[in-house]
Order: sequence, then C-alpha cells, then structure tokens
Amino acid sequence: MRGKRSKQYRKLMEQYEMHYGFRKPYQVIVDSDMITETTRLKMDMNVLLKKTLHGDIKPLITQCSIRHLYAHNTDPGMAPIIAKAKEIERRFCGHHPDAHPEPLPTGECLMSVIDGKNTGRNKHRYVVATQDAELRRRLRQIPGVPLIYVNRGVMIMEPMASATEGELAKEERGKFRAELRGATKRKREDDGAEAEAKKDGAEKEGEEGEGEGAEKTAEQPAKKKKKKNYGKAKGPNPLAMKKKKKPAGQ
Ligand SMILES: [Zn+2]
Repeated sequence: MRGKRSKQYRKLMEQYEMHYGFRKPYQVIVDSDMITETTRLKMDMNVLLKKTLHGDIKPLITQCSIRHLYAHNTDPGMAPIIAKAKEIERRFCGHHPDAHPEPLPTGECLMSVIDGKNTGRNKHRYVVATQDAELRRRLRQIPGVPLIYVNRGVMIMEPMASATEGELAKEERGKFRAELRGATKRKREDDGAEAEAKKDGAEKEGEEGEGEGAEKTAEQPAKKKKKKNYGKAKGPNPLAMKKKKKPAGQ
C-alpha cells in the first residue's frame, strides 16, 4: 500500500475509534464476493484487511453469505474460496434455511445484521467489506460504517461518508477535512496553474501565427499594427466620453 493512502486509512480509523468507539480487533463483515474476489486474485484477505485498517481484525461472515458460496460449490475454482470462507467465524443472521429456502441477497442480509432495527446506527461497530456497490451506498447513510472493497486487485477503504462527517464536531470536522483533502487540493491547484500556463502559451502562439501568416514583408507587420490601432481608435472612446460628460452634468 502506498504511504499516503496508508496514512489516510490510519487517520480514518483513528476517527472511527475516537467518535464511534471502534476497538481492535475490528469486527469486519465480509461478503461472499469479497472472499471470491480476493481468493481468485490470490490476495491474502485477512492480511490486507489488517493493513488497511491498521490493526487486528476479526472477520465475520453471515450464514447467507456462506450459502451463496455453497450454492456454487460445483463451479470451477470454488474449493479454495469455500475453504477460505469456512475459516471465518460465522455471524448469526437469523435467516435460517427453514424460513428462507434461498439465502437472502447480500444487501438485505447485511443490512439486517448491521442495522436490523432501522435505527440508522452501526450498533455493533462493524467494518463492512463488500463488493456490493449498492449496499455500500446504503451503508453510507448510516454514520460510522467503515467501508472496504476491492478494485482491480487493490483493497480500498472509502473516505468518510458525508453522513458520518456530518455527525462529527464542527471543529474536528474542519481539521480532519483539511488534512485529508489538503493533498488533493494542492494537486488541483498545481493542475490549475499548469492549465493557465498552457493557455497563455497557446494565446501567444496564436498571436505570433497571425502575424506571420497575414504579412510577409518586413514593412507589413508595422502597417498591420497601425491598422489595428486605427481599428481600435474608431469612434469615441466610450469611457473617455463618460468621464467628460460627468463633470458637465454636475
Ligand atoms: Zn442472512
């Protein structure tokens, strides 16, 4: 993991600890797709979660997620994925096969585990590692849910959701944002300056090009300049007129 991102993640977890009472080992709910993705890419999920969260972790998997994997147990390459899932502690989700012949979709199952009573709180202080973008979107509405996913073989922790930020004390929030976004802002400013410089360059080139293209003799450029001046001088300068009129009117 690159240094800057690693530092951001450490600060994020400090915020979650400070404001939401997260404690190591962090309980991380992983979904079936997270296990599948990391195993297929030969990523060590537990090690990467530890690195990303900057602390010991306790991964958990719901019964429904396990059942999602078992449903594909004859697919090629599933054996190591299921083996991996079996190592993870089961999180009772209450969606028993008797009542639910089909496992609940990841989003439904995990939402019920994280905030079953719809209180809008992450009561158990779960970190959620899910490949379900819609579920992550829903979880962003609940303050204090660290969200992790894997993109192109890289484990990513989402920045603090606005629902979370909104809850933090104003002073803390300001300080934290400044730290987190300082780097991005500085980059933007640099980009902006670069763009300005390019623009200036283009304008200069354009002026030069015009001069060369229109007039070719040594005399001509001077003439052209005069022409330009005549053009500008055409008619009274409105500003000058205004100035003259003002004193007269008073
Ligand atoms: Zn379930």
